[in-house]
Amino acid sequence: MAEKRDLYEVLGVSRDASDAEIKKAYRLLSKKYHPDINKDSDADEKFKEIASAYEVLSDPQKRAAYDQYGHAANDPNFNGGFGGFGGGFGGAGGFSGFDDIFDTFFGGAGGRASRNPNAPRKGNDLQYTITLTFEEAIFGKEETISYQRNEECHTCHGSGAKPGTSPVNCSKCHGSGVIQVERNTPFGRVMTQATCDVCNGTGKEIKEKCTTCHGSGTESQRHSVKVTVPAGVETDQQMRLNGQGEAGSNGGPYGDLYVVFQVKKSDKFEREGTEIYYELPVSFAQVALGDEVVIPTVHGNVKLKIPAGTQTNTTFRLRGKGAPSIGGGYTGDQHVTVNVVTPKKLSEKEKNLFAELAKLSGEDVKGSDPGFFDRIKDVFDK
Ligand code: ZN
Ligand code: ZN
Repeated sequence: MAEKRDLYEVLGVSRDASDAEIKKAYRLLSKKYHPDINKDSDADEKFKEIASAYEVLSDPQKRAAYDQYGHAANDPNFNGGFGGFGGGFGGAGGFSGFDDIFDTFFGGAGGRASRNPNAPRKGNDLQYTITLTFEEAIFGKEETISYQRNEECHTCHGSGAKPGTSPVNCSKCHGSGVIQVERNTPFGRVMTQATCDVCNGTGKEIKEKCTTCHGSGTESQRHSVKVTVPAGVETDQQMRLNGQGEAGSNGGPYGDLYVVFQVKKSDKFEREGTEIYYELPVSFAQVALGDEVVIPTVHGNVKLKIPAGTQTNTTFRLRGKGAPSIGGGYTGDQHVTVNVVTPKKLSEKEKNLFAELAKLSGEDVKGSDPGFFDRIKDVFDK
C-alpha cells in the first residue's frame, strides 16, 4: 500500500471539522470516486482511501486515537500489535480490516491484553500478479500458478514442538503473551503493555523444538493452484482465493490469496471496459468514393462498408465485437474511427491530378513547390 496520507487531507476538511462537515465531505467524495461512476484507473484506490478515512474520523474514539498517535494507531506494531492489517483488498466494500483493528485496540479491558494469545489466528494473505495478453483478458483462461508459502509443518502439525513433546507456558509472561514496559508518549513515560519478547505473544515456550520447522510450526513450501481467469478482466482487478495464503497459527485457518491482473497493451486496439477502439487509416479516395474494408477484431475479421462521403473521425460501431462484461450477460462493441491520411509524397502525375481536381471544384490552390504552379499552368493551358 502506498504512503498513507493525512486522513483530514483525504477528506479535504480541517482538523477541527465538525462531525457534520466530515459527513458532508465524505458523501461528496465517495459519490465522486465511486468505482461504478468514476472510471479513472485510480478511482477505486481513492474510494477506498476516502472510506477508510471516514471510518476513522466519523468515530469519536478512533478519531481521538488518530489525533493522538496518527497512523500509528493502525500500525500492527503499535502497543504490542493487534494482529496485522488484513483490509484494503477485495472489490467494493473490501476495507473491513479497520473495524477489526479498532475493536481489538479499544474493545474490552486493555485491548490485546485480554485476548487469549493461544486463540486460533488466520494466516497471512498473499498477493500474486498474473500478466495477461490483451486477448486473454477478454476471453479468460485457466492458469496454474505456483508460489512459495508457509504451510503447516508436516512434522509437528503446527505446534513447533518436537513430536512427543508439547509447548509449555512461557516463563516470562506466564502464558499471558504480554509484559509491562515503560514507553515514551507525548504525555511523558507511562507503563504500557507489549508483546512478550520470549514467546512473541503466544504465551507458550517450546523447550524441545521440532527439527523440521525449528519451532515456527510452519515450513516454506512451493504451492500450486489453478486459477480460472474470468473473461473480461481489466488491469488491477483482483480475485480472492480462499485459503490459498499462508498457514494460520494455533489451528487458525489459512490466509487468502489475492490474484491481481495486469493486462498487456495491444498494438491494434484500445480497450475501456467492454468497449474496444480501433483506428482505421484510409485514403481520401476511399472516403470520397466509398469502399469496403476488412477490419480486425478480437473475434476475427469483419467487413465494413465505408459510405461515399464519409468524413474523417467518423466512428462506426461493430456490435458485439468488444469485450464481455465480467460474469457474462453482455458483450461490448468495437468502435472503428476513420482517419483520413494525407499523402506525404506525391508523384508528378498525382500532383497534376490533384490540381485538376482542385480546379474542377473551383478551388484556388497555390501549392508550396516553386515550380509547381508553372507546371500546372502548362497542363491546363495546352
Ligand atoms: Zn515443525
Ligand atoms: Zn511470554
